[in-house]
Amino acid sequence: MRRDELLDFADGVKGFMPRDEGLALHRAALEQKGTNGTWLEVGAWCGKSAVYLGAAAQEKGAVLYSLDHHHGSEENQVGWEHFDPSLVDPHDGRLNTLPTWQRTIADAQLESTVLGLVGPSLVVARHFAQPLDILFIDGGHGTDVAWADYDAWSPKVVAGGLMMIHDVFPDPKDGGRPPYEIYLAALASQLFAEISAQGSLRVLRRI
Ligand code: SAH
Ligand code: MG
Repeated sequence: MRRDELLDFADGVKGFMPRDEGLALHRAALEQKGTNGTWLEVGAWCGKSAVYLGAAAQEKGAVLYSLDHHHGSEENQVGWEHFDPSLVDPHDGRLNTLPTWQRTIADAQLESTVLGLVGPSLVVARHFAQPLDILFIDGGHGTDVAWADYDAWSPKVVAGGLMMIHDVFPDPKDGGRPPYEIYLAALASQLFAEISAQGSLRVLRRI
């Protein structure tokens, strides 16, 4: 698919990424210097952000690992705000977004660019030695989970590489704080500098 077709397709995928933020994600990745890189997103859900990023990765000859255990975050479980009964697997009654994610990546014709990593973020991180040119953090938003992702994955970003964080809400009225806290920690570490922001997306560069 052409770039504009892919971006329109991404807009139609189930998920929690507004189009303006998806386009900002895509653009930041596309403008990043260097090719043939390794990119990784923590939090795949049904593949929406993977298509925005994957469209850029395809043009640049990079590979995007899209990591998720595919059983949803706390707020996706039954009785919570973002529960979607159509994603429950009748086999065990658990949420399972993997079949939807696979269909998304297949329909987008990105199967050689966007590769699924299925498992708990920290277990994968412990066994993942490859430096990252782009890291997108959009996994669990609880305090422990968000900080664990930041601690495990941010050191893998190469100098000059990007770390993008989603759902950064400076005002607690707009949403949970942990993504905002790790964003502040990244800036305070002086290892990362902010280069742009769109909605709740923050784009940082490793110094
Ligand atoms: N980036 C996606 C949305 C991700 S939603 C998009 O914009 O389209 C957050 C995802 O993080 C959920 O699918 C959930 O299953 C996953 N997640 C939460 N905690 C996780 C963990 N510890 N390991 C792996 N995945 C996790
Ligand atoms: Mg998000």
